[in-house]
This record gives sequence, C-alpha cells and structure tokens, in this order.
Amino acid sequence: MKSALIEIVVASGNPHKVQEISAIFAQEGLGEWVRFLSLSDVGGPFKEPAETARTFQENARIKAVAYAALTNRMVLADDSGLQVDALAGEPGVDSAIWAGEHGTREQRDARNNEKLMVAMRDVKRGDRAARFVCFMCLADADGKMIAQTRGACEGEIAESPQGVGGFGYDAYFLVGGMNVTSAQLSSEEKNKVSHRGHATRLLAKELRVVVGAPER
Ligand code: IMP
Repeated sequence: MKSALIEIVVASGNPHKVQEISAIFAQEGLGEWVRFLSLSDVGGPFKEPAETARTFQENARIKAVAYAALTNRMVLADDSGLQVDALAGEPGVDSAIWAGEHGTREQRDARNNEKLMVAMRDVKRGDRAARFVCFMCLADADGKMIAQTRGACEGEIAESPQGVGGFGYDAYFLVGGMNVTSAQLSSEEKNKVSHRGHATRLLAKELRVVVGAPER
C-alpha cells in the first residue's frame, strides 16, 4: 500500500476522535492519502489552550493555531456542543462545563444532563428543538487556515434519558426523523448522522482537492 501523503495531528486528548475521523476518511477513500496522529503520537499531552471565544468556530481556530505552534505540524481541531432553542442556544460553547468545571468527565456529563432536564421541565413537546453543532479547522504547521467546515445534527430534547451508548448529552438527544436518541445508535450509525460525521465528510471533500486524490 502507498504511504499516506500527509499527516495530520488531531488536537484532542480523546483517542476515540482519532479513530472516528480516520474511519470516516477511509470510507471516503482517503485512507491512503491522509494519516491522522494523536497528540501523544507527537510528544503530547500538551498544556491545553484556553477556549476563551464565544463561538465554536473561533474556539476551533484557537486550538488549531495553538497546537500547530506546539507541534510544528498540520493540525485538525474541532469544537462542538449542543444548542437548545428554548434556552436561547445554551449550553452552546459551554456544553462541556455547563454545570461546572469540577469532577471527572462522567460527573460533569451527569450534572449537565440534570441541569438540562430542570431547564426543560416546563417546555412542551414541539418546542424542544435542539441541534449538535461541530466546527472543524485545519491549520498548516505555520497556523495558516487550510480548511474550515461546519456540521450539524438536528433533533429535540427528550423528556427522559434513553440508551446507554455515546457520551455527553447523547441519551437526552432525539435524532431528527429517527425516533431514537443518539445514545441508542451504534457508533457507525451515529457517524452517519452526527454533527462531527458531517463536518468530517465535508473536510474530506476539501482535502481531496488539497492532496490531489481522484474524485469518486
Ligand atoms: P467537544 O468540543 O467535542 O469536546 O464537545 C464539547 C461538549 O459538547 C462535550 O463535552 C459534550 O458535553 C457535548 N457534545 C459534543 N458532541 C457530543 C455528542 O456527539 N454527543 C453528546 N454530547 C456531545
């Protein structure tokens, strides 16, 4: 097999993201053209940059530029979260730490979901629209932006949790048109409909042009 033409560092401490993105690129026929590396592959973990912006796009850009400077490599960074219409777009960029920063990821997720249920208690069916949004930024080793994509997954907030898969708000998010929560989907099924899946496929499309891979 031909070796990959470009290597891209995924700016995330979550090893599942590297697998998920690599799998989607392989499905898109770019497996031989692009190889994704984790931060630990390139000497990490590093001190995480503060995500100080109030948009997903700007936070993704901050991470991409910071990790490009730290690693001197091409970097893919993403920022995602849940927007609930009845809550004026909250938790938004605060999704990970909406109910506080302390504790483990699992403890934060549990508190966030409790806060979501309380906030949505009096919101009736039909007014519970929400979406997961993901912004991806690809920067070259000098921090110059090569590509930016946005993916979204529309749905609504469930009245009670369903399913045990996934993470974060998955058990409380009914995927539009599917009548199940994203915690009830296999990771393959979730990739097909998720905000990150959409943003990753759009990025693969843009990279196809950059690396000169043939159209499919
Ligand atoms: P990150 O930017 O991917 O780290 O996501 C920030 C936060 O948004 C996570 O900690 C979760 O609370 C929430 N989130 C993002 N993507 C998902 C998802 O696919 N399912 C459930 N929650 C998510």
